[in-house]
Amino acid sequence: MKSVTILGSTGSIGLSTLDVLSLHPEKFKVYALTANRSVESLLQQCLQFEPEIAVMLDVAAADKLAEALKKNHSKTIVKIGKKALEEVSSSANTDIVVAAIVGAAGLLPTLAAAKAGKRILLANKEALVMSGALFMKTVAENAATLLPVDSEHNAIWQCLPVANTQHHDFNGKGVRKIILTASGGPFRDYDIEQLDDVTPEQAVAHPNWSMGQKISVDSATMMNKGLEVIEAHWLFGLQSQQIEVVLHRQSVIHSMVDYEDGSVLAQMGNPDMRTPITNTLSWPDRIASGVEPLDLVKVGRLDFSAADFARFPCLRLAYKALNEGGTATAILNAANEIAVQAFLDEQIRFTDIARIIEEVLIELPANDATTLEQILADDAAARTLAKSKIGLCIH
Ligand code: NAD
Ligand code: MG
Repeated sequence: MKSVTILGSTGSIGLSTLDVLSLHPEKFKVYALTANRSVESLLQQCLQFEPEIAVMLDVAAADKLAEALKKNHSKTIVKIGKKALEEVSSSANTDIVVAAIVGAAGLLPTLAAAKAGKRILLANKEALVMSGALFMKTVAENAATLLPVDSEHNAIWQCLPVANTQHHDFNGKGVRKIILTASGGPFRDYDIEQLDDVTPEQAVAHPNWSMGQKISVDSATMMNKGLEVIEAHWLFGLQSQQIEVVLHRQSVIHSMVDYEDGSVLAQMGNPDMRTPITNTLSWPDRIASGVEPLDLVKVGRLDFSAADFARFPCLRLAYKALNEGGTATAILNAANEIAVQAFLDEQIRFTDIARIIEEVLIELPANDATTLEQILADDAAARTLAKSKIGLCIH
């Protein structure tokens, strides 16, 4: 019986994880569930899965949750705040930590899990984008097991010759390059001129995947694929020129590995995050995920085309930050988080997102990313600078 902590259990990945856990009550029990402030959702999860601990970021929400749990005679203990997140992800009572908080907020609790040598199921790509070198070093030094949940990285990991759970190192294994597939998001067929006027509702309506708001906007700008290029660099120890992005509108091939001998290995399946979540939960075994079997005849065809940097400037900016190195990727990530929120709040246009990120990248010099202090300082500086630009955008 493995004990699981889910950081961000009320989100899209959190819900899919609980769905898989409910299929295998004899294999997994829930140690801790955490959320930002969604009381009703966390309450229902606590009543169903009976975790030892529930963590809420928001104090008022935590009080409400504790009261409701008491009324329902639940034994779950409610804890509050960021330190409590680190406590549950490093606790001796948990074996597996599912890192499913969105954005930079996931970094410290995920790092805490790495320091405690846990098996980490990594969905929170922003943590790696911010602190790649430091994070991978922490994983290696503490013999943590890092398994990629992001569907592309999970696909690549499955196509690896030998599964190394700490470095996933491709060097010396005959790998020429990896090919990340991208659906292209909801605006892949729009005229570029139309992109100035798209709305948040249009941006979050993804054609193939159902996901949280932030990653849905990231998919529409293709910053999501850019963050994934950076994520792949750290997970697999590949240089940026070995990481290619190809548009594949059906999202059936989740990514590929291209070997020196001409073999290209792909992992396929229906676009449903329960597959990579189950793969990493049960690894090295394979168990049921609840995902429909892939019907290739129904899929009919698989299309591929080149990713277009003019339509998707965020993808270009991500490669640029990766090549610059140091804290440039943390700066990119922070500016993106601020710009995406401003777009969702209807303060800026869709096309302002890339513009703001580019300006922040140009104006803020990157530093060495070897200490957490420096990473967090540059993250904060990038947020302040990005915010100062929001008011300047003309509607
Ligand atoms: P989501 O917005 O649906 O859920 C986010 C979760 O994090 C919620 O439980 C929320 O309560 C919690 N949270 C939000 N802000 C927080 C804060 N400041 N402190 C603590 N907790 C906070 O997001 P999601 O779509 O589930 O994505 C989660 C992560 O997984 C992201 O990093 C995303 O890039 C990655 N990911 C998601 C998918 C997907 O299909 N949804 C696929 C691949 C990777
Ligand atoms: Mg992905």
